[in-house]
Amino acid sequence: MGKVYLVGAGPGDPDLLTVKAARLLARASIVFHDSLVSREVLGLIARDAEVIDVGKRCGHKLLTQEEINSVLVSAAAKHEVVIRLKGGDPLVFGRAGEEIEALRKAAVEFEIVPGITAALGAAAAAGISLTDRRAASRIVISTFSRGTEGASLDLGAITSTTTLALYMPGPDYAEVAQRLREGGLPDDLPCVIVSNATGTEQQIRWTSVARLAGEEKLPAPALMIVGRVASQKVQEISKQFWRGEPTEGHARHTAVS
Ligand code: SAH
Repeated sequence: MGKVYLVGAGPGDPDLLTVKAARLLARASIVFHDSLVSREVLGLIARDAEVIDVGKRCGHKLLTQEEINSVLVSAAAKHEVVIRLKGGDPLVFGRAGEEIEALRKAAVEFEIVPGITAALGAAAAAGISLTDRRAASRIVISTFSRGTEGASLDLGAITSTTTLALYMPGPDYAEVAQRLREGGLPDDLPCVIVSNATGTEQQIRWTSVARLAGEEKLPAPALMIVGRVASQKVQEISKQFWRGEPTEGHARHTAVS
């Protein structure tokens, strides 16, 4: 019986793989990968390994999640090192939960090898800090399109000191902008769109919640970072975006009263 490794391939740049992931790819006998995994990372797989694309092609899934779960289990019966390679980190919007459950049920040994998730790759590419002691004390990793089944993104949880990393924003930026505004995010709040973060075709677009609707669509995969920190202008860090937000002076006043 072999072992299944759920491995994060990172956002694109092969140098951002963990040493462990690179070592495993060189030893693998079979690799099941997503369409998000970059060509350069696939190039690190052992030459004699079987490489199977289980991702999407033109919006059509090549294998269903149930099929992937069962091929992982059956591959472990035949191969010593089975790799399930996913873009970014396997535990962030990677359906790892379902695979872990299937492997546990079948009593197949497995190990998770983390990768750099797209939000971290995108922030690094854009040169912004996701937390900032002056302006942002939490990061919300979220998506509209694939929320928890039956539940939608609760933008009520987004405050003036939240940085929102929006995965899978989809091609309709006007709709994204509308949903952000409906969620109470101010029009002039900075937003940066990063496409193909850390990859050879990386693109970065600096915008705002209101301007987002009119932005030209960037190629997938892309994500948006929304919040005070998503700007190149230093003064936006301390600007008041939310109506009724206490000014610094007011905050000091309330602190002593
Ligand atoms: N497990 C992955 C996320 C998979 S969901 C991770 O941890 O990064 C797919 C979404 O991730 C895409 O729609 C996009 O929003 C984001 N994404 C993945 N790779 C990206 C990249 N290189 N640049 C920008 N966004 C990326």
